[in-house]
Amino acid sequence: MLSTMQDGQLSLARLLRHGSTVHSEAEVITWTDSGARRETYGEVGKKAAKLANALRGLGVTGDQRVATFMWNNAEHLTIYAAIPAMGAVLHTLNIRLFPEQLVYVANHAEDHVVIVDGTLVPLLAKQLPEMKTVKHVIVANGDASTLEAPAGVQVHSYSALLDAQSDEFDWPEIDERSAAAICYTSGTTGDPKGVAYSHRSIWLHSMQVCMSDSMRLAQGDKALVIVPMFHAMSWGLPYAALMVGASLLMPDRFLQPKPIAEMLEVERPEFAAAVPTVWQGLLQQLDANPQDISYLKEVVIGGSAVPPSMMHTFQERHGVTVVHAWGMTETSPLGSVARPPKAATGDAAWAYRYSQGRFPASVTARLVGDSGDVLPWDGESVGELEVQGPWIAGAYLGGADVDPDKFHDGWLRTGDVGKITHDGFLTLTDRAKDVIKSGGEWISSVDLENAVMGHPAVAEAAVVGIPDEKWDERPLVAVVVKEGQSVTAEELRDYLTDKVAKWQLPENWTFVDEVPKTSVGKFDKKRLRAFHNEGKLDISHL
Ligand code: ADP
Repeated sequence: MLSTMQDGQLSLARLLRHGSTVHSEAEVITWTDSGARRETYGEVGKKAAKLANALRGLGVTGDQRVATFMWNNAEHLTIYAAIPAMGAVLHTLNIRLFPEQLVYVANHAEDHVVIVDGTLVPLLAKQLPEMKTVKHVIVANGDASTLEAPAGVQVHSYSALLDAQSDEFDWPEIDERSAAAICYTSGTTGDPKGVAYSHRSIWLHSMQVCMSDSMRLAQGDKALVIVPMFHAMSWGLPYAALMVGASLLMPDRFLQPKPIAEMLEVERPEFAAAVPTVWQGLLQQLDANPQDISYLKEVVIGGSAVPPSMMHTFQERHGVTVVHAWGMTETSPLGSVARPPKAATGDAAWAYRYSQGRFPASVTARLVGDSGDVLPWDGESVGELEVQGPWIAGAYLGGADVDPDKFHDGWLRTGDVGKITHDGFLTLTDRAKDVIKSGGEWISSVDLENAVMGHPAVAEAAVVGIPDEKWDERPLVAVVVKEGQSVTAEELRDYLTDKVAKWQLPENWTFVDEVPKTSVGKFDKKRLRAFHNEGKLDISHL
């Protein structure tokens, strides 16, 4: 029997109309070198209409790809809102990709237009001649005349283009299953792979972001969004904010600890989201220059494992609750969020908070062992995590031939290894490719990192497996010591003795100024391993 319900499409045109009218007074606040500039969602709606009119004039009449090469700011939000709503497809280019990868993704997605931030023009200009399908470049927040157009490409000024347009646009009816936006994985292995989110997947994901068991974004909140809009859709926060009328505080290019501390002080957001390395920098900044941040109700951290020591520092020194979350580009990205069950208190609650979190109803998960058997949710069995659901990728852009191993029987293979409790809390022990295999046993690089980062003199610690004649692999710990502090490898090893099993105690240590980071600020273990293979690390063997 068919239902009797209407079949209203979950389209981002509906989201834009709603956000810019019902929540017309919510704001997008962009940080600049002289404080904040503000725009209401009502104004964003009008500018989105102007942009859509302008793009129609540039031949964007169907599902052409419109790429962005932008920081988190008001213009990027306008583009996020306008492109899918007009029926085109937004492609957020990661400004930190290697040049050849940038060219690869622009050509692969067949970008027709690129909208670039004025400050990023020099970075794009070098690669532009190789972007074969690009016909128009629009320069926002800068001088378009600084960009020399390659043959066949027209350059426009964003503000001049918009000024000439009407602030009304007849947003079309869009099939909710059509593509709205494309993100590429950051390509830590091989070419980046594209994920095309649908209007429906983004809509459902946005609702989840706002739910109380997830990020709890709500009307009237001000959210500091440090997670970049050029990677994994900024964790879905821009669309979720338009949906519920939360204001957005956008750091633009001011991503260092000092300006972040400044924008916190001035704008006092209730909510913030970033990867652990960003918060590590901020915590050090706050140690050196104490400042009250207790107005932050919650800070959501994910993208890589949050060391428990970081959660405690936030809570005990700053009165701020950290909410740990897991996800990936292929999962839109929200996969799980660590909110303890109400009945859990004290250490039991902390144990839940250390985990990567609980799956929401729309994300179905299973663990698969080495021989392909599905493992129980007993909090002990360790296997590869696989997921299914309405905002989980079923294939990569380009069809079933692109990395087919990632998908089987309708499940996404995450490449993450961990365990799940009977009540659906995930604890990741590693990425499959980072697990250290020592003497037939597995050592979790994440557990070791968390333990080392618990030492008060340690700012960052990354662990990789290095070849060992006797044990196959042994852990190598790369440590960054906090400014003004000192600690030796022997002291760190002693510190670990009551925290990890004896056979796991690392004997290889190296002290570095900085752990290499990926384009989105995660520890780049591939490069760390390469440094080791090239003999670039000065290692103490205990
Ligand atoms: P990339 O693969 O380029 O890093 P993603 O941002 O999609 O791109 O990364 C997703 C991966 O990040 C996950 O598969 C997982 O390995 C890791 N990750 C994300 N959140 C967490 C977390 N809370 N704890 C541990 N690992 C995480």
